[in-house]
Amino acid sequence: MKIQTIEFAAERAGLELSSETLEQIQLYIARLLEKNKVMNLTAITEENEIADSHLLDSFLLLPYVRGTSMIDVGTGAGFPGLLVKLLRPELNVVLLDSTKKRISFLEEIIDELALSQITAVHGRAEELAHKPEYREQFDTAVARAVSALDILVELCLPLVRPGGRFLAMKGKEDELELAAKAIPLLGGGKATADHYLLPGTDIQRSMVIVPKEKPTKQRYPRPFAAIKKFPL
Ligand code: SAH
Repeated sequence: MKIQTIEFAAERAGLELSSETLEQIQLYIARLLEKNKVMNLTAITEENEIADSHLLDSFLLLPYVRGTSMIDVGTGAGFPGLLVKLLRPELNVVLLDSTKKRISFLEEIIDELALSQITAVHGRAEELAHKPEYREQFDTAVARAVSALDILVELCLPLVRPGGRFLAMKGKEDELELAAKAIPLLGGGKATADHYLLPGTDIQRSMVIVPKEKPTKQRYPRPFAAIKKFPL
């Protein structure tokens, strides 16, 4: 991918990136496309589409990220978590995914870019959320394209410390209605959503913001089968 393509995506998000950051992103996308030939990491392979749907979309998350620690639940090939880390190097980041091959790819790229204070973790959110090292440890949890919001809040809110927030990157529909009952049960406060077009495209997005108000009761999250079968 040309540096100019990355720069143009950043510009549309109101960001000016250093040449070092631009080169890091260029290397990351090159490795992603290489690896994608032998394993399915992303369905999107056309460069302009990557620039809009992956880069620009992830860049637009930046102003929403608060605090010093963030977990990206279901990060896949690293979107949006790895890009946020490259743009905000001081942030402590955990990239979580239940697919081993995606985590191995992320470990390789973290190594090659010599990044610190970032780990790629192979596991399931609903299991990690019961471990003290992860439960209510993050200022921000984020998830993009992982599941419907009623399920997603049970996976993600237990990872957020009271006072922090969960950000769900959604398409045209914010799905707030769907999760209206679940959010207070999990210690969430009043959720809101921002709606916008990816600048320069006609792609509609919603950013759902769920503040964490109170600790989550120990019984949550439930095992995945229960979450899926009986969403809160
Ligand atoms: N966030 C990325 C990937 C979306 S695909 C992007 O927007 O491009 C969804 C990913 O979530 C898959 O890689 C899948 O392995 C992961 N996933 C689904 N359920 C999960 C769970 N309960 N815990 C951790 N990862 C999960």
